[in-house]
Amino acid sequence: MKQATKSRKSVEYYVDGILQGNRVVLAQAITLVESSLPSDQDLASRVLEKTIQKSGNSIRIGITGSPGVGKSTFIEAFGKFLTRLGKKVAVLTVDPTSQKTKGSILGDKTRMPQLATNPDAFIRPSSAGETLGGVANNTREAILLTEAAGFEIIIIETVGVGQSEVAVRNMTDFFLLLMLPGSGDELQGIKKGIMEMADLLVITKADGENLPRAKRSQAEFQQAVHTLYDRAGGWIPKVLTASALLSTGLEDIHDSISKFISTKKQSGDFATNRSLQDIAHMHDNFQQRLKDEISNSSFLRGKFTEIEALVKTHALTPGEAGKKLLGYFQQYIQAKAPENTRP
Ligand code: GDP
Repeated sequence: MKQATKSRKSVEYYVDGILQGNRVVLAQAITLVESSLPSDQDLASRVLEKTIQKSGNSIRIGITGSPGVGKSTFIEAFGKFLTRLGKKVAVLTVDPTSQKTKGSILGDKTRMPQLATNPDAFIRPSSAGETLGGVANNTREAILLTEAAGFEIIIIETVGVGQSEVAVRNMTDFFLLLMLPGSGDELQGIKKGIMEMADLLVITKADGENLPRAKRSQAEFQQAVHTLYDRAGGWIPKVLTASALLSTGLEDIHDSISKFISTKKQSGDFATNRSLQDIAHMHDNFQQRLKDEISNSSFLRGKFTEIEALVKTHALTPGEAGKKLLGYFQQYIQAKAPENTRP
């Protein structure tokens, strides 16, 4: 996990910078959130605490699609469209593949060169973390900081592989699936489950000789969506087409998102969804803290190694091993707690 080593500033430095919409300070604060150093985490918590009242006033849009579908090109075009409407737009990514290389396949700001230099946009390529849970946790906190800095539309991009879609769905208000022109019968490597999570499907690259195919796909997918979605009285996702290259279709996409958000706000579902997401975030955060506590303790790491060896040789059942580890964990916590807070 990324451990920031540069000297840290005061809580006020981060809080003031964020509330003034300073993108450099915002980026520094997100680095704190991503750090696994306990001192950075403490600082990050205090910054979050002091800025949380200014958070929440954004529309959080999740965007996914297979590699090559045109995500970065689309986000750049859509981001520019939104800034032209006077919105401040942030793009964050959830990229569970980045942890393998310590660098991100999405880590290059030049994927969105125009948006990266736009004063009304903020791009944060990847969230460091050893697990998807860790990445997701960092991203959720990055969202809060970004909102406090005045960004009104937060786009959370994910690479379209593995479980990260579920994580992104669970931290956004609206989920957009990008697909290549193709047949509605085939799912283009996109799992049906991901399609079911989408609030809007967009067929990309609807230009040039692709256009007729994109239009055909649109009709076929719309048919597929109607049979797939069984949300009684609920939102039936539209299937739209867009060309990021020509900047076409963006207004319809924006309209669909706006309509969804206002419907959900009116029914109260918007607020309910956010509350449920906060509760889920709390659970994830707690689990992450437990994991960090373990990995930061040489005593506990040693016990894990010792017990693993016993399980390996069948000297201990996995169940008994789990119980023993919990015992060691309790021992560790008691030894760590100051006298007056011990049970
Ligand atoms: P990502 O991997 O999903 O982020 O995909 P990219 O945005 O990198 O795009 C993959 C390729 O598709 C690039 O060569 C783009 O130039 C091309 N592409 C993206 N959007 C469009 C579009 O709207 N029309 C056309 N014709 N090509 C596009």
